[in-house]
Amino acid sequence: MFSKGSKLYSILNYKCPRCHQGDLFSHKGWSYTKFSQMPERCPCCHQSYEPEPGFYYGAMYVSYGITTAILVAVLVALNVFLEEVTMAWFLGALSATLLLFYPFIFRMSRAVWINFFVHYNKQVAEKTEC
Ligand SMILES: [Zn+2]
Repeated sequence: MFSKGSKLYSILNYKCPRCHQGDLFSHKGWSYTKFSQMPERCPCCHQSYEPEPGFYYGAMYVSYGITTAILVAVLVALNVFLEEVTMAWFLGALSATLLLFYPFIFRMSRAVWINFFVHYNKQVAEKTEC
């Protein structure tokens, strides 16, 4: 969809932000038990995926933004499909949606966060074969 070298390619495909070849997460798919596992380093260019301890605490800010967008989408959808939106409906639908999309929110937040700090390096990407 987006070409290698763009941040969106790395974020949307969960690829290493430096070489855009190695996977950011150990397991593909939406496994609710393994979705958070990340290798320590990129298997291709050896970029550290946790440059400093607690690096991903900042991803909570990204997660907050994504969660807010989901909250608004749920509220709009409920207003479209229901005549009267009660607090119970809203909280129930929001809870179910957040539980369903939790692995997506988690991974997307980390992918966005690491892309703030690690940039694509064309020389490394050309030297690396994975
Ligand atoms: Zn890499």
